[in-house]
Amino acid sequence: MNIIDSKKIWLSSPHMGGTEQKFVQEAFDTNWVAPLGPNVNGFESDIQDYLGENVFAAALSSGTASLHLGLKLLGVTVGDEVLCQSMTFAASANPIVYLGAKPIFIDSERDTWNMCSDQLELAIKDRIAKGKKPKAIIPVHLYGMPYNVEAIHQIALKYKIPVLEDSAEALGSTYQGVKCGTFGDIAILSFNGNKIITTSGGGSLVTKNKAHKEKAIFWATQARDNAPHYEHSEIGYNYRMSNITAGIGRGQMEVLDAHVDNRRSNFEFYKKHLEESSEIKFLEEPSGYYSNRWLTCIETTSYQLRESLRLSLAEENIESRPLWKPMHQQAVFADCDAYLNGVSDDLFDRGLCLPSGSNLEEDDLYRIVSVIKNTLR
Ligand SMILES: *Cc1c(COP(=O)(O)O)cnc(C)c1O
Repeated sequence: MNIIDSKKIWLSSPHMGGTEQKFVQEAFDTNWVAPLGPNVNGFESDIQDYLGENVFAAALSSGTASLHLGLKLLGVTVGDEVLCQSMTFAASANPIVYLGAKPIFIDSERDTWNMCSDQLELAIKDRIAKGKKPKAIIPVHLYGMPYNVEAIHQIALKYKIPVLEDSAEALGSTYQGVKCGTFGDIAILSFNGNKIITTSGGGSLVTKNKAHKEKAIFWATQARDNAPHYEHSEIGYNYRMSNITAGIGRGQMEVLDAHVDNRRSNFEFYKKHLEESSEIKFLEEPSGYYSNRWLTCIETTSYQLRESLRLSLAEENIESRPLWKPMHQQAVFADCDAYLNGVSDDLFDRGLCLPSGSNLEEDDLYRIVSVIKNTLR
């Protein structure tokens, strides 16, 4: 096939449901074109209603901003250490550095590709022995697969270290029937363009503590003290979500469940058509885990095969991507300590993310699968 006549298939592209424009139009009609207004409050209550568990959501400009303010709420400051899953997007770790604290990276387990509880406990004991107790733990539900909540939170409780749950990729996923985004002392969501739902760009901090929500919004709106003039006793940020983007979010919340169904169907399609190949393995859900299958990822048998699949797909105008490169391998974090077992290095070598948008057509999926099958042949 020639690139010129084959439609580009993206890894994960925005997928509008239809009512987004109505909410945005309302914002224009009422002139609420500002970082406050009825859509912001409406979107926050939509998130709260969806997650349940008596949570409070603070809609912010990004998932990264939510992580930044989440760490600040947990008291992370200059010189602190924060334990962070190594296999993740850099945005999980960058806000640690914004605060002058130091990331310490923890490797993954095979079952979920997420933070390994053995490595976590080893790291905590070692850091305490070295004289500094970590200030927070950031586990991630990577690609929508929940981390081992029970094991990680048990250790966090045992050592009394708060958890900042990075649920950026896992809205719609559940662990033992409970929604991801409700487990951490603080959790965060992302509504970036490639995520399960999008506001074009945005995120949310999620907390069970109403004072946390109020403080996050205070910081996110330039930390204005209560006065008729501009009075400041703290450093603020410009991190609030706008009423326009929140309007997109309200429309997207109406189709969230449908998006999860579509993404899970993508996974089932790939599995059905490729699982007979001994060179490809899928990440199954352990019992009690329900993944939104944000991205369908495969494990191949070698780096070479992973690369030849990626390049053959690219040649047919199909976007795919290696798994997240672990943070302990990144130049920017070269001087950070890491507790490693080899799992994330190995997954990064052999793993590939396949196109997974909720707007993929069956024709697209057949096209992708046929390129993969031809390359394996
Ligand atoms: C997308 C993402 C973020 C950051 O969210 P933004 O809204 O893009 O700032 C953080 N962590 C993970 C794991 C992500 O995938």
